[in-house]
Amino acid sequence: MPVYAYQHLDEKSVCAHAPTFVWEQPARDFPLNKCPWCAGQVKRVLEPSLIKSKKFDCELRDLGFTKLVRVDHGIFENRTRRSGEEKYVDRTRPETFPRLEKTIED
Ligand SMILES: [Zn+2]
Repeated sequence: MPVYAYQHLDEKSVCAHAPTFVWEQPARDFPLNKCPWCAGQVKRVLEPSLIKSKKFDCELRDLGFTKLVRVDHGIFENRTRRSGEEKYVDRTRPETFPRLEKTIED
């Protein structure tokens, strides 16, 4: 499935997935207009160099992106898992969410 990059429209969003996250979805699906986590408004942005294939997951991580791939209803595999993060993210369990404070070092 193709991977798309989304950007929060609210620059002050405190969402753990702001400002940008990537989302894997069928090409026929409508673009998301709300963040799956905070329900804030998002827009799809073109990042052609980032959306080629799965082998770029580590590059995405190094760029500070979080890539989650849906594996079941409300369950996502964290493909850019950093140390200390859970492999699977459960929407109902905030403790499994990726940790922004580990992503941003400066
Ligand atoms: Zn959000």
